[in-house]
Amino acid sequence: LPEQEAFDIEYWLLEEAKLQRMPKPKALAGRIALVTGGAGGIGSATAERLLKEGACVVLADIDAKAVTDVAAGMAKVFGKDAVRAVQMNVTDEGQVIGAYGETAVEFGGIDILVSNAGIASSAPVEETSLALWNKNMDILSTGYFLVSREAFKCFRAQGIGASVIFIASKNGLAASPNASAYCTAKAAEIHLARCLALEGAEAGIRVNVVNPDAVLRGSKIWSGEWLDQRAATYGKDKEGLEEMYRQRSMLKRAVLPEDIAEGAYFFASDLSAKSTGNILNVDAGNVQAFTR
Ligand code: NAD
Repeated sequence: LPEQEAFDIEYWLLEEAKLQRMPKPKALAGRIALVTGGAGGIGSATAERLLKEGACVVLADIDAKAVTDVAAGMAKVFGKDAVRAVQMNVTDEGQVIGAYGETAVEFGGIDILVSNAGIASSAPVEETSLALWNKNMDILSTGYFLVSREAFKCFRAQGIGASVIFIASKNGLAASPNASAYCTAKAAEIHLARCLALEGAEAGIRVNVVNPDAVLRGSKIWSGEWLDQRAATYGKDKEGLEEMYRQRSMLKRAVLPEDIAEGAYFFASDLSAKSTGNILNVDAGNVQAFTR
């Protein structure tokens, strides 16, 4: 090489090495996320994932003490300016509107909604009371509608693109024994996401779904009544259930809250800039495998 050209290349390589050593801007820096059910297993893992990428997060949950404690723990790691907690029952219109008001006051707006707050219930159809049916519909369908409607109002007022992620369930696509109310409510969630994706597309509002399969570890759902009901349905204890889910998946692996959080992060970030109305099954290959 001529001397000048060799010098230019060396100079360029040194500059490139310098750039590589410089801290990269975080993928979600400057973005504000609201995570419902933020005190729970999947909600808190997702909040943590978004915080790691530089987002500020508002954790919303019906359980005021739990959500305050979870937010306080995260504030120790990510700084007190990055996390807030708000008590919000997703079925209470006034509380939902209030939570968005608080988010606007604290952070000035919202860019990401992770609609995740939920319950699980199990009963044969003939033992499903109207109250149990309505509870599933109220929290899992109406709740997802209310938090999305208020998010859409904010996104449109801000005039910027945004991302909505629904944590639904693979049970919204496939039937599960003794869980008709839960499965039907989850199916409604998934179809709501498709409808909202269409409505929001022109304004750059993306709406996508992450479907977990059973996430036994880290989930509060699996420590209560639901665990007993599923154990009775399948005739297994908690360890037996986990093994059953593992064995019927293609990958033979258990799904963890952190796995769902990765899916939510993908849809929250620009990595998925061209995806809307889509479903990501984080299920170790269960939905598509007929191994039961
Ligand atoms: P979790 O019980 O650990 O967390 C759920 C959180 O939602 C709790 O903190 C709870 O207080 C909150 N919540 C319940 N009702 C609420 C309401 N009305 N308003 C506001 N908050 C409310 O459960 P998880 O496993 O983290 O579940 C999160 C989501 O994932 C749910 O929508 C659930 O249906 C879905 N999901 C979970 C699994 C699983 O196996 N864990 C599988 C598929 C789908």
